[in-house]
Amino acid sequence: MFQKVLIANRGEIACRIATVLRARGVRSVAVYSEADAAAPHVRLADEAVCVGPAPVPQSYLNQDAILAAAQATGAEAIHPGYGLLSENAGFARRCAAAGIVFIGPSPEAIDAMGDKAVARATAAAAGVPVVPGSGGAISDDEAAALAEGIGYPVLVKAAAGGGGIGMQVVTKPEKLARSLQTCRDRGASSFGSDAVYLERYIESPRHIEVQILFDHHGHGVHLFERECTLQRRHQKVVEEAPSAFVQARPDLRDGLYASALALGRAIGYRGAGTVEFIVDPEGRHYFIEVNTRLQVEHPVTEAITGVDLIGWQLDIAAGAPLTLTQDALAIQGAAIECRVYAEDPAKSFLPRPGTIERFDAPTGPGVRVDAGVEAPCEVTPYYDPMLAKLVVAGADRPEAIARTRAALGAFVVEPLTTNLAFLATVMEHDDFQAGRYDTGWLERLAKGRL
Ligand code: ADP
Ligand code: ADP
Ligand code: MG
Repeated sequence: MFQKVLIANRGEIACRIATVLRARGVRSVAVYSEADAAAPHVRLADEAVCVGPAPVPQSYLNQDAILAAAQATGAEAIHPGYGLLSENAGFARRCAAAGIVFIGPSPEAIDAMGDKAVARATAAAAGVPVVPGSGGAISDDEAAALAEGIGYPVLVKAAAGGGGIGMQVVTKPEKLARSLQTCRDRGASSFGSDAVYLERYIESPRHIEVQILFDHHGHGVHLFERECTLQRRHQKVVEEAPSAFVQARPDLRDGLYASALALGRAIGYRGAGTVEFIVDPEGRHYFIEVNTRLQVEHPVTEAITGVDLIGWQLDIAAGAPLTLTQDALAIQGAAIECRVYAEDPAKSFLPRPGTIERFDAPTGPGVRVDAGVEAPCEVTPYYDPMLAKLVVAGADRPEAIARTRAALGAFVVEPLTTNLAFLATVMEHDDFQAGRYDTGWLERLAKGRL
């Protein structure tokens, strides 16, 4: 095992990684921007290095400064968390060149899945069903012909995209050219690539994903599915494990697990990863992408399996064999994660930075809060407005919902505008309780249409 690990992230995930490291007797090094000098993740780590000014490109994406911090502190490995540098193959290569272990899959696997158009082709070649669409990145002319062929509505996606950014739903041919341009522009500005591809827009789908874990020796398991259908702006807000929809359909369930493992094997995956699928109302599943990193919502999987995913990321990165076997893994109970954001659900979920004066996280049976803030503290406009994740486990889904409702009622974040009351409305809604929803449901709820 490593003696010292640098955490190249901030917020709740940096706090959580620091806590896992401490529990294992591994020293931790935090990095922070000038705006985060007093942030909780800085204090939780054994050492901390300032890597630049507040804007992300100058600090948390500043590869030179982060690598220099690792070398100056003698860190043997870097955990990138999620977002930021976590899916940056170039950074993974630079770590390797500097003799530092990047805690994640190989740069080749990151590259293979990082271009989502190439990932689709790789998945199809591995026998995994993909959404009907383009074989790779396409020109505007090809897009028009292809869209006619697969039928409107279609979805234009940035090949290098993530975080729901850049995606455009196109309902009719007249709107295609403009959407292609918007998507290319967003891709270029957010991800440095204007390559786009096309998929059929599946109506009323669910987003279901499968957690996988592979070691250096080709041994891999899946850790069941997560239901991530409740989204705003194509980004998840409430996630669950398992998915009641999937568990009620054994063919779908087995197909999802088989697809995820087949793709993991095909690309020689290593470490923790997530294979994302769209599932149509008839229960057919289609691959959409692989996230070659830890996912925000990984705790619901930990809650139902008892597996410490970050612990396994560390062990696998250090070369240890994965001793988990598929037969020994089982789903125990149900878990729900609510992402607590400083944002206003009534105003299109607009971020609302500000000062936190009171932060009372709930406790209780099955309740886990992964927080990246405390009181008092400043929530700045520089970073993602997620404050904390409320993760609640129960013996079954109704108990997890009941406990989540109670926990949300006891959660106090003041005087900031947050989505806490909105999350409570979700938990209380008949549709949610009955499992009747699609990826558009949450935005309809926020607009008062339900
Ligand atoms: P998950 O897929 O784990 O649910 P999200 O889509 O919510 O994750 O993204 C997690 C975090 O990473 C968010 O802060 C999001 O803004 C950021 N993010 C996701 N993908 C990218 C990307 N390709 N580039 C930069 N940031 C990203
Ligand atoms: P990102 O890389 O930004 O996470 P994804 O390709 O994973 O993008 O898609 C994000 C979300 O967009 C999905 O969870 C789903 O809600 C929606 N989506 C993606 N592809 C489709 C599709 N073909 N049809 C309908 N909705 C889709
Ligand atoms: Mg995705």
